[in-house]
Amino acid sequence: MAGETKGFTSASFNAFLTGENDGEKRLMGVRCRSCGHLSAEPRPMCPSCHGKDMEWFQFSGKGRLSTFTCISIVTNAMGEKGYGRDNPCCAGIVTLEEGPRISARILGVDGNNPQDIKTEMDVILDLEDLDAGHPSPAFRPV
Ligand SMILES: [Zn+2]
Repeated sequence: MAGETKGFTSASFNAFLTGENDGEKRLMGVRCRSCGHLSAEPRPMCPSCHGKDMEWFQFSGKGRLSTFTCISIVTNAMGEKGYGRDNPCCAGIVTLEEGPRISARILGVDGNNPQDIKTEMDVILDLEDLDAGHPSPAFRPV
């Protein structure tokens, strides 16, 4: 395994997302070997027992949309992807089936009709269209 995925850092987390180490894109979190606490954010110390015996944990990619917002004022990078006032992008909080919550982009929904986007709907990880410079997890309806 390449050196950058040894540290429990955002750089390691992003390297797993983009699959730059072995070509396989993964959503990884960290699990505490002492108490079993699972976190969707890479951290070197357990937020529950403050232990430092952490290991990487691969999430299934299945989850439920807990809450969301549609954004019409977007960054330049998102504007280049076609998002903006006429095509708001959707961002949300997904509760992973393993328990942790993660903020993510929500793909495959109509940001102009947020009333049609259902909280509690099943979503699945989609890492096909990652922004290489700023990779972030994305999900779409199952
Ligand atoms: Zn712990």
